[in-house]
Amino acid sequence: MKLACPISQFRVAPDKSVKLKKTATKIDPLYTSDDDYESKLASYREEIAHWQSILYAGQQESVLLIFQGMDSAGKGGAIRHVMSGINPQGCQVHSFGRPSEEELAHDYLWRCLLRLPRRGMIGIFDRSYYEEVLVVRVKPEVLAGQNLPADLVKHKNFWKDRFHDIRQHEAYLHRNGTKIIKFFLHVSADEQRERLLARIDDPEKNWKFRLGDLDCRSHWADFQKAYQDCLEQTSTTESPWYIVPADDKRNARLIISQIILQNMQKMELQLPSASPALIQDLATARKLLQDEVAER
Ligand code: ATP
Repeated sequence: MKLACPISQFRVAPDKSVKLKKTATKIDPLYTSDDDYESKLASYREEIAHWQSILYAGQQESVLLIFQGMDSAGKGGAIRHVMSGINPQGCQVHSFGRPSEEELAHDYLWRCLLRLPRRGMIGIFDRSYYEEVLVVRVKPEVLAGQNLPADLVKHKNFWKDRFHDIRQHEAYLHRNGTKIIKFFLHVSADEQRERLLARIDDPEKNWKFRLGDLDCRSHWADFQKAYQDCLEQTSTTESPWYIVPADDKRNARLIISQIILQNMQKMELQLPSASPALIQDLATARKLLQDEVAER
């Protein structure tokens, strides 16, 4: 399938510096009308579903999609729209909010490790262990609530080491057959303001509103800085970050679906070939079924 735009423009090259202020939150739409948007998204979804069924049949590799972004960046909507055509048996979504008491009683990767996709599955993380170098870094009170030994927290390489841990963890998963694709949905502060106001003004969106979102917004610059550092430190050739311009939700969904599609195409997935034993079983089964008709 011919894709509408080169996805490499959104990929964060390893060890390259990231300037979010200079990175677009909006680009020219990849669709020309409502119908064009719907039909493009539908065809990408169909193709993703095709690769997902081959991934599932193979039961060897898995795909982990990680979505991060400021509140109201559109993570949930993107996950819903892009993945809606996928066989639910082969796909699992997990949202990571504030950790529970039990989760805080373990190391910070623990709760995410429990939810990694099995072989053959697509796992989707709506927020993830990346919060550990984002909200936990921006808000000292969150780190203070993690019950870590004081000397570890005070160590000068504390954040550098967390990035190292995450890179190693992802390299390990890669060596075990998990393809990780990471999306940062990049919205502008103005667009977030509009979306938060819509959540306040529209009764049907009230349920999405949390007062805590305004608190995070008041730390906007710190979050952008933390994201910048995180994207620079943890984008690797095997497990890249993509910065998705997200002020236009529909454009963001088209970009995300193309990124998933292109990465899955590159995995060169193939249906498992039938073993001699299976070929024998198939021949036996065919004969049994055909004999049923002959015996009627
Ligand atoms: P959304 O992800 O769209 O904001 P939500 O607001 O409904 O959805 P919540 O259940 O409120 O989801 O959880 C999201 C909040 O949890 C975010 O503010 C996020 O920063 C916070 N969070 C996620 N992981 C951690 C963590 N490890 N430590 C502290 N806070 C975290």
